[in-house]
Amino acid sequence: MFVTHLPKIFFYPKPKIIITSALLPKSKTTPLSHFSSVTSAANTLLQQTPDLQIKNLEIERVQEKPHFEISVEKLFFPPDTDVSSGSRPLSSRILKGSNIVLSKYAGDAQVEQAEFVKSSVETEECPSDGLPEFALVGRSNVGKSSLLNSLVRRKKLALTSKKPGKTQCINHFRINNSWHLVDLPGYGYAAAPHEVRTDWAKFTKDYFLNRPNLVSVFLLIDASIPAKRIDLEYASWLGENKIPMTIVFTKCDKRKKKKNGGKRPEENLQDFLELIKKFFQTAPPWIMTSSVTNQGRDEILLHMSQLRNYWLKH
Ligand code: GDP
Repeated sequence: MFVTHLPKIFFYPKPKIIITSALLPKSKTTPLSHFSSVTSAANTLLQQTPDLQIKNLEIERVQEKPHFEISVEKLFFPPDTDVSSGSRPLSSRILKGSNIVLSKYAGDAQVEQAEFVKSSVETEECPSDGLPEFALVGRSNVGKSSLLNSLVRRKKLALTSKKPGKTQCINHFRINNSWHLVDLPGYGYAAAPHEVRTDWAKFTKDYFLNRPNLVSVFLLIDASIPAKRIDLEYASWLGENKIPMTIVFTKCDKRKKKKNGGKRPEENLQDFLELIKKFFQTAPPWIMTSSVTNQGRDEILLHMSQLRNYWLKH
């Protein structure tokens, strides 16, 4: 069964997916502990598969104690997702620590090469090579630079964006000479003057609305603390404006209870998703990460590859 006739660059299909009872887990929910991860071996296999079909994918079962369960309707199905996919159960095709189902477009997920391209102060100045791109955005201190460096396996690539004068820029990094990672200014920095904060909001929103090769925004949310109002506002704006978005929960290694709310990352994550759900027609993709343990790094890259490859083919 295939999802067809989806509009171009629209990654939140209102699923006309009919999930037959055979595909549904008995309880209609899939324990997170049963979700599968894609091993490095599988990544290599995927890379060697030129037609981007997921073949012979090695899946390793996650043995951790379940933290929470995700119902099928809260999963994210990329466009053209083959829901039945032969004998492989749906639960074996969900990226570890996420609600993201792998599609046949998942593929080249390794970063071989990463280089800083340029800083732009407005959308028109951004590179015009038409390469597909993903923008990382989040509140100051959310862990954006750490995640960017972890994705490209470098310690200092993202430091360029921290230099004085570069903080209000759209910073482009070219990956494998074929796509861009874009570092956008952090928002919600309390020390910034009001006019500067307004300017940031204006030009990043202009970028989101007017950048044709923006495949998806990756909105970073700190899962070690309770939802912040400014994050909810940002997520709702993206949802209401139908900007393709993936929520990246950061700092998921911070497991100890904090005096500030005292909740675990999984609980903060669930609270956040509950608070924003009314702004989305269907569940947006989300993924748990840590730049300390590198949790979620390979999974983000695989998710980016499936979004990118779909975008390139349509
Ligand atoms: P940015 O302002 O969004 O670029 O955030 P940074 O990447 O500079 O990180 C802000 C702070 O959070 C730094 O002290 C990092 O060491 C810390 N940090 C970033 N990512 C993680 C993470 O995944 N886990 C933990 N425990 N700390 C993190």
